[in-house]
Amino acid sequence: MQDMIRRHQFTLKKSLGQNFLVDENILNKIASAADLDEESYVLEIGPGAGALTQVLADQAKKVVAVEIDRRLETVLNDTLYGFDNVSVYFGDALKLDLHDILSKEIPADATVTVVANLPYYVTTPILMRLLTDGLPINKMVVMIQKEVASRLEAIPGEKSYGSLSIAVQYLAEPRIIMTVPKTVFVPQPNVDSAVIRLDIRTEKKVRVIDEPFFFRLVRASFAQRRKTLINNLINNLYNKNHKELLLDILNRVGIDPGRRGETLTIEEFARLSDALGELTDMS
Ligand code: SAM
Repeated sequence: MQDMIRRHQFTLKKSLGQNFLVDENILNKIASAADLDEESYVLEIGPGAGALTQVLADQAKKVVAVEIDRRLETVLNDTLYGFDNVSVYFGDALKLDLHDILSKEIPADATVTVVANLPYYVTTPILMRLLTDGLPINKMVVMIQKEVASRLEAIPGEKSYGSLSIAVQYLAEPRIIMTVPKTVFVPQPNVDSAVIRLDIRTEKKVRVIDEPFFFRLVRASFAQRRKTLINNLINNLYNKNHKELLLDILNRVGIDPGRRGETLTIEEFARLSDALGELTDMS
């Protein structure tokens, strides 16, 4: 693969997160964590020079890949030569109409597995788009920064537990598959990586009456991590005039107002979100 990049005189762009994976063993492990078979449809974000794409195309029925960098077209034509089950689209995965692309590439009732070595600079927006855009995704196996992977998997009380952990766990079940040293990339990034698998829940982890408010509440509760829940609510969602009412509601749902947001479970946030509904108009 490195020869291929050299042969095409391709210069890697750091600004596009172009750290290409050059370890065959890791490529195989990523594909195997996705449990693909000859009936599987795969959506790959950022095929780069096609190293992972080749492994995926060997195992799946079809691979649809989305790459932002048009300069890779000639490289991919070369590396994917002979694979008739790969379609590459050029454009930004955050902007392209993925519904439209998938509707052209996979049967209407099929689901896709996302497999990707994601560009670090847009990991969170890409993950959130894929999770919330209503695409027919059943699971994702993605390589991301190790530190971000721990945030996705974190549970209450852990340092990396935050609004991202809740947003992701509300929609999916995350499981870190392995950590990956920086030495398997060209060029080497500054940080280690991890492969994480996210199984999309068929039903969300909790039911809430008002989903946008639930997420506003979560963000507000983590806005100042060292502050108590009641202070974060007063400072970031309500104001001092609501203090007594808020204490009352917290008391009613059995949550100590002196706790920090980082100790609350998703179920507790859901309970609080529903109970605070009556105050929403006043915020
Ligand atoms: N899959 C290859 C591999 O494993 O060696 C390349 C992975 S590299 C970490 C990330 C790839 O994502 C690069 O090819 C980069 O050009 C592409 N990329 C960056 N931003 C993108 C975006 N917004 N949409 C689609 N592709 C993007």
